[in-house]
Amino acid sequence: MYEDLKQKLIDAGRVLYSEGLGDYVAGHISLRLPDNPGRFLMKPAGIGIEEMSQSNIITVDLDGMKVDGASNRHNEVFIHSEVLRARPEINSVVHAHPIHTVAFSSLGRELRAVGNDGTVFHGGVPVFSETTDLITTSERGKAVASTLKKRPALILRNHGIVATGASVQESVWISLKLEKACKTQMLAEAAGGPQLFVKEEDVADKQKKSLRQDLYDNAFDYSLRNFKRTYCACCLDKEDVVGPSTFKASPGG
Ligand SMILES: [Zn+2]
Repeated sequence: MYEDLKQKLIDAGRVLYSEGLGDYVAGHISLRLPDNPGRFLMKPAGIGIEEMSQSNIITVDLDGMKVDGASNRHNEVFIHSEVLRARPEINSVVHAHPIHTVAFSSLGRELRAVGNDGTVFHGGVPVFSETTDLITTSERGKAVASTLKKRPALILRNHGIVATGASVQESVWISLKLEKACKTQMLAEAAGGPQLFVKEEDVADKQKKSLRQDLYDNAFDYSLRNFKRTYCACCLDKEDVVGPSTFKASPGG
């Protein structure tokens, strides 16, 4: 059931990994079921984000309870359940630990529009600093969702990111853009600090050019092709490569 949606999630994991957002078996992505909006598909705990398969993806409800699938859920499931509960227009959530964003969060600086990527987040990225620990309760998940408000992404201080989208392609795009924006600003900070920023009068047009579904789709497909060029295509879709019984039960991160 939901084969096409699961394939989209599998592909998203491969794109995130291919673009450097994997973190061993940590990090996760979810996709709301269009015919049952109180439930969502999600990567299970215990495997890399690029190792999802039709058989190991799980289904979870908005209380964070697993309702289908043999694999364990991540104990940070509440990031997904509470953001999806609070934002009915959002269908996909990414949580990852991108190193530049995490390093940037330790500076205590505001993300600025240093380049195209930073322009996407003009107006600020909320920073969740209630804790630097993992988000393992529904209360903390609710606090993350309320800090996020209607913004596309949030930084979990000294921890990682939460990125959202109406589609999987959008939540992945927002994740990649946030990491690149933080990396770009870090480079400028390391070189003495940025002196010039994207012109205010250019922000709206640049945002419009960077926030389009066709761009999300094309960039997603491009990164997926890159992943497939890099890794052995004949191994990728073998269902048994990472079935539910090939890794240890784990609450994960
Ligand atoms: Zn985490």
